[in-house]
Amino acid sequence: MAKHAILKSFYATDEWIQLRLHLINERGNRCAHCGEIIAKSKDIIGHHIKELTPENVHDHTISLNPDNIELICFDCHNKEHKRFGYQGAKEVYLVYGPPMSGKSTLVKQNIERGDLVVDMDALYAAVSMLPSYDKPDNLYTNVIGIHNQLIDNIRTRYGKWHNAWIVGGYADKYKRDRLAEDLSAEVIFCDVSKEECLSRLEQDIDRQYRKDEWTKYINKWFDTYTK
Ligand SMILES: [Zn+2]
Ligand SMILES: [Zn+2]
Repeated sequence: MAKHAILKSFYATDEWIQLRLHLINERGNRCAHCGEIIAKSKDIIGHHIKELTPENVHDHTISLNPDNIELICFDCHNKEHKRFGYQGAKEVYLVYGPPMSGKSTLVKQNIERGDLVVDMDALYAAVSMLPSYDKPDNLYTNVIGIHNQLIDNIRTRYGKWHNAWIVGGYADKYKRDRLAEDLSAEVIFCDVSKEECLSRLEQDIDRQYRKDEWTKYINKWFDTYTK
């Protein structure tokens, strides 16, 4: 189901990210629908009972109201949205923004089963068996090869995927616009300040031993970013 870009970028706002974390702390990691334990907190979906629309997303009594939010697992979230029916078109989304800006959270909130995701961090993890924050330089050539193959498939709409999500920094406007045009992709910006990214890094348990490396990634993104 194609949703409006305004809705998608809501999931990268600081208000949403903080509220979701707060609710996870408060309610725990059991899916509110099926009762399964959700092992990784990043896989817990905050689902809006009254569905978000471009009209109501700025109304915080709906979008940021804990009573309107359920924490559920990926499968239950899919079932929840299947009610509205799958509309069949292959939409392509280019999700970009600095490291720690919530790109993966945004995609997890919006994705449906059968969608294709192209994310360099996830591809590194797939071929190295390392956690997704650890990206050995020597694997770059192989990882970018898989990445480019998938981008080609998206360009030609090859394969039976529903929607496609391309996740990355894409700080350079020229390269970003060219890719979006090439793929007929809708662009979604995770607009988070450098201070906020650094403060999220500070609080991130997974990256606690890699703060220097990730501070460099964040600084580099803001140094090369063009609007
Ligand atoms: Zn569930
Ligand atoms: Zn939902």
